[in-house]
Amino acid sequence: MIQEKRVIQELLIAQSTSDGAGVRLKRVFGGRDLERFDPFLMLDAFGSFDATDYIGGFPSHPHRGFETVTYMLEGYMEHRDHMDNLGRLGPGDVQWMNAGSGVIHSEMPQQKEGRMRGFQLWVNLPAAEKMMPPSYRDIRAQDIPQYQMDHIGVRAIAGRLMVNEQEVIGAVTHPSTEPGYLDLKIASPDAVRILIPDGHNALLYVYEGSLTISDHDYRLEAGEMGRLSHHGLLVLQAEPDTRVLVISGKPIGEPIVHYGPFVMNTKAEIKQAVTDYNSGKLV
Ligand code: MN
Repeated sequence: MIQEKRVIQELLIAQSTSDGAGVRLKRVFGGRDLERFDPFLMLDAFGSFDATDYIGGFPSHPHRGFETVTYMLEGYMEHRDHMDNLGRLGPGDVQWMNAGSGVIHSEMPQQKEGRMRGFQLWVNLPAAEKMMPPSYRDIRAQDIPQYQMDHIGVRAIAGRLMVNEQEVIGAVTHPSTEPGYLDLKIASPDAVRILIPDGHNALLYVYEGSLTISDHDYRLEAGEMGRLSHHGLLVLQAEPDTRVLVISGKPIGEPIVHYGPFVMNTKAEIKQAVTDYNSGKLV
């Protein structure tokens, strides 16, 4: 029997945009027709040596109904929120924030020069969890499990996946959407086999180097994301020193209504979120 393999169903090219107070970034996906990424809502990649690209940061803004996951590769960011939480993120650190019913926070760079590089992923919540109290996990770089196989270095931010027949367990395991989030550094063209739970959505974002998937000719280059089919083994071959994010999760299967920083199931719930924010009742 020939084992089914995951293939690229959709190619997405990160688009330059700006957000917050003029932060230049690349939006890998987000905005419209989000059902096909379920349970994910957005991936931003930011990276610059030029402080004018990031110095404005993300001043005070709200969120409701989903989780934001910030993963820093280089540089320093500070998070403050309406509950007087203060978190500093440095190279390799992750902040996993569950906005739940409402958070008002700022995310500001803590450097005036040098390179700033990282990602922010938005993970949706099922209806039953959207109005839960907000919560956080700040995970230091040294607390993120790392695995070194022959030619593959893995930083396991979240989930339980198999990489070349070895189980990889991330720092975060989430009960409802079971997100997997791996940062892979691949040193040689030898095959990498990744087994993602059957039926889960899977996204591959290459940010250095390039790779091919499951014997297909198309080469995914840095700045490109492949949205994969839902079943089978993922087999990839990378050029030396390729770095790629492997993101997977269990689809929620509920309606998604997205308006700015709010992601709910109905328009009425979005209107309520806007009303709550404008009247100071979001938090
Ligand atoms: Mn935010």
